[in-house]
Amino acid sequence: MKFGGTSVADVERIRNVARHVRREVEAGYDVAVVVSAMSGKTNELVAWCRDAAKLHDPREYDVVVSSGEQVTSGLLALALQNDGLPARSWQGWQVPITTSDQHGSARIAAVDGTSILEGFATRREVAVVAGFQGVHAATGRVATLGRGGSDTSAVALAAALGAERCDIYTDVDGVYTTDPRIVPRARRLDRVAFEEMLEMASLGAKVLQVRSVELAMLHRVPTYVRSSFDDPADPRPGTLICDEDDIVEHPVVTGIAFSKDEAQITLRRVADKPGVAAAIFGPLADANVNVDMIIQVVSEDGRSTDITFTVPAMDYERSRAILEDNRGAIGLTGIQGAADVVKVSAIGVGMRSHAGVASRAFRALADKGINIRAITTSEIKFSVLIDAAYTELAVRTLHSLYGLDKA
Ligand code: ASP
Ligand code: MG
Repeated sequence: MKFGGTSVADVERIRNVARHVRREVEAGYDVAVVVSAMSGKTNELVAWCRDAAKLHDPREYDVVVSSGEQVTSGLLALALQNDGLPARSWQGWQVPITTSDQHGSARIAAVDGTSILEGFATRREVAVVAGFQGVHAATGRVATLGRGGSDTSAVALAAALGAERCDIYTDVDGVYTTDPRIVPRARRLDRVAFEEMLEMASLGAKVLQVRSVELAMLHRVPTYVRSSFDDPADPRPGTLICDEDDIVEHPVVTGIAFSKDEAQITLRRVADKPGVAAAIFGPLADANVNVDMIIQVVSEDGRSTDITFTVPAMDYERSRAILEDNRGAIGLTGIQGAADVVKVSAIGVGMRSHAGVASRAFRALADKGINIRAITTSEIKFSVLIDAAYTELAVRTLHSLYGLDKA
């Protein structure tokens, strides 16, 4: 069971979490619980680090920002004990959950579940594990997994313990066909395939950390997204993220995601000759800029061409500066860009077996007067880049086009 920040926002809510845990214990399960920090806590800790030093040592940053989860893990263990359930807290280094040394965004290397399983077997002891943190084995230093990393802690722990399920309790009651704040007729999905969830999370849906979905898919951990605000005695259904084969019916499109964290860059009249793409994208890759959609136009005169691509909005200015620095090597005449763009995507494993899914969208968007700046497609998704001002209209249009509106 994993509980996010809003679910452990204060001691009263932590007591409510203890009730959810009790229900599962009484149902006969051994339970490991992963907790996030109280909502807003990690932001506060991050801000303190910035205040203390603009360029901070990432190892000390991790010491500070991992502390929020230490507090909630101890508090939940106390609440459980107070309810008469054997329980103890585990910090990442105690489990241990070992990680890489990329402090601030470390990857889990291994989770040793031995001691927790021993606690189950000998004492029926609930393990309350601090999410978001681990330890880099070689240096013994605390490392954090990147924002939203408790989801990943939970899935990794579930895999290591051979859990039947990983239940992610959050402030929504599941995964929706799209963001219900944009489309009130969005529906909760009963089931989503791992592959679909991975695309949805990568393309902007904010329910789960992308890395956690990758791990769930890799280890085939059925992951159940559900609400912690339910009555612990009578919880409502959520969304099960599972194997494609465990889903009976596949609609052509399962969900619509959108991401405003995109910016578009267009290079005008670059030389149309071998090595130019390398000259453009090499320096960007070296600077860790993740380029997404790329469009190269066929040149009319065989000498020069236009190239359009997208980068994360936060890397927009930096990318432009890098391109300016490499002006000579690229043979660049002009750079144009736009940061007020949004990427809208439709996702569904059903697309594999249907033709013409994307072209229907192009028509529907055109009918609404929405101009498409770039397109990408893959086996189970397609994305269009449009002006941010049309976000809601585009998401709504595609949501009804593919029959996702709630009746
Ligand atoms: N507390 C951490 C964060 O806010 C980890 C998490 O909640 O998943 O990013
Ligand atoms: Mg979260």
